[in-house]
Amino acid sequence: MRLAPVEFLPPVASRRRAYLLAAAALAGGIGPRALAQGDAANALDGPNMPYAAFDRAPFERIEVAGSTLRVVFGEGTFELPRARILTYVRQSARSVGAYFGRFPADDTRLLILGTDSPGRSVRSGTAFGYRGAAIKLVLARSVTAGDLDRDWILVHEMTHLALPSVPRRHHWIEEGIATYVEPLARAQSGVLDAAPIWADMLKGMPLGLPQAGDRGLDNTPTWGRTYWGGALFCLLADVTLRERSANAKGLQHALRAILAHGNMETDSALEPLLRIGDAAVGVPVLSELYREMGANPYPVDLDALWRRLGVRPDGQTVQFDDAAPLAAVRRALTAPFAG
Ligand SMILES: [Zn+2]
Repeated sequence: MRLAPVEFLPPVASRRRAYLLAAAALAGGIGPRALAQGDAANALDGPNMPYAAFDRAPFERIEVAGSTLRVVFGEGTFELPRARILTYVRQSARSVGAYFGRFPADDTRLLILGTDSPGRSVRSGTAFGYRGAAIKLVLARSVTAGDLDRDWILVHEMTHLALPSVPRRHHWIEEGIATYVEPLARAQSGVLDAAPIWADMLKGMPLGLPQAGDRGLDNTPTWGRTYWGGALFCLLADVTLRERSANAKGLQHALRAILAHGNMETDSALEPLLRIGDAAVGVPVLSELYREMGANPYPVDLDALWRRLGVRPDGQTVQFDDAAPLAAVRRALTAPFAG
């Protein structure tokens, strides 16, 4: 089983400002005042997921499509009512559930801690799978409803639950899937428009390209290659799966099939998972692309890809060209699942 959590290190994008603050804030995110207030609250605090303390704490139950989330709040209060925070949890879970066809774990512990230290309002998230699916989320006590409506971190962490834990050298696919799927899941459930997603991809995907000395995704564990290199693998796989299946099926079908095999609570080698995904679509794109991108730099002409998809940069946003050869593929990625 996984011994280390999938740690949160947010991707770069315009709507993802202050990304570098999060990791620094994580270290000191919980104030000393909280640490002084009682054993029960202390036990929920700390660098890892406090499974034992969590299981002793009173929780709120959220049901999403037959799955249960148990939500425990740490010590202290938020300016928002807890009910509003739970609404945000429910919406995030619905987005992820809609993408994968079900929420990716039957029973998920969600620990929500508050912080008074300065920094972004949704401070950090971490997903854990080694003693049952769990997510730890740190929110500023001053977090607003608007902050929660714009947040992507909780959906990113919930998306982590959908992939079995793979050996460490493939960490890029764990972060790549979470980075790539998060905005699509939110778009498919109607809480995010397509234009900002493509604008973010145009900014972010170049960060995932191989640099000098690159030795492929399995052997180049830099931040850019892990998050955006992994996301680029997902985008290329999705587009190619759809091209080769007459736009009938894509990465979403593959990921649903992989989830049916196991979630983050299980361990797997990577190659069998890719074969499961390929079989669900009927073309071996994931396996072929992994053979290229896992061990080799694999440069990608992104400008040509955006042209084929019909996405043109336009200041801070993008314009779409519906006459582009892959315009229908582009639309399918953000449309509700078509079966
Ligand atoms: Zn992540």
